[in-house]
Amino acid sequence: MKNKFCFGLLLSALLLTGCQSEIDPVPLGVKQRDRGEYMVDRQQVKVENGNAMVLVMHYTALDDEKSLKVLTGGEVSIHYLVPSIPKIERGKPVVIHLLPEDAEAWHAGKSFWRGREKLNTSSVGIEIVNTGYTDEPDGTRKWYKFNDEQIDLIIPLAKDIIKRHNIAPYNVVAHSDIAPQRKSDPGPLFPWDKLAQAGIGAWPNATDVKKHLAGRPKNMQTDVLTMQKLLARYGYQVPLHGQLDKETKNVIAAFQMHFRRSNFNGIPDAETESILKALIDKYKIKSATV
Ligand SMILES: [Zn+2]
Repeated sequence: MKNKFCFGLLLSALLLTGCQSEIDPVPLGVKQRDRGEYMVDRQQVKVENGNAMVLVMHYTALDDEKSLKVLTGGEVSIHYLVPSIPKIERGKPVVIHLLPEDAEAWHAGKSFWRGREKLNTSSVGIEIVNTGYTDEPDGTRKWYKFNDEQIDLIIPLAKDIIKRHNIAPYNVVAHSDIAPQRKSDPGPLFPWDKLAQAGIGAWPNATDVKKHLAGRPKNMQTDVLTMQKLLARYGYQVPLHGQLDKETKNVIAAFQMHFRRSNFNGIPDAETESILKALIDKYKIKSATV
């Protein structure tokens, strides 16, 4: 009797939540949706540069309250916001969903990735509540760690988004990858390696890195033009003049913050070059188009 009662309750709860959630726009990847009084059958449209979605990771550099205020105020926006310590409901972490994934969010700004500009129109964004950095009186820059609870939420969320939009590993990027002259989020403490272990984003094979290093000291400075060409091929907007100018250093540092987090000094060195070559090998990257 008790079981039957519970089942009845559960059923009505399911029906209730069902009715409420079906008014949402149809997420990409979901073919059919019940919208109450009618059904939606979503078909895939073949577009130029299809399969070109990019997933962009950010930190807010604000606390929870201010992050939500800014991201709902109309100046900037995002698809998902990961709180500093996500609430737990039914034993699961809760992400704040602010915009449907196929709606344009204003999170990328002036940006470039693999031949495409203005990534707002072709990306899904995740903002993570994190202080970012503070410049200390002694001249050092202090970066702030992400909470394990945040990463535990980002992993299943990102996996889901990647699957829904069929996002290539090399198109899972940092804001600093697509705007290296202006941005440094989510910064060098964002655990890209941990995400890659969970199947999210690109990561080189250690054996390939070693092969390309070919016995050179890791920090041995390398040819600037070679590095610029490799970065451009991987997807970055970078000058191709062979000079180690500020712009080039910013791009190298962005790459290092993503793939060689222990040292992101912006200097072209043998290890950075080897990681880049290993990534290009692994993902068979021929040219920089999305
Ligand atoms: Zn950002």
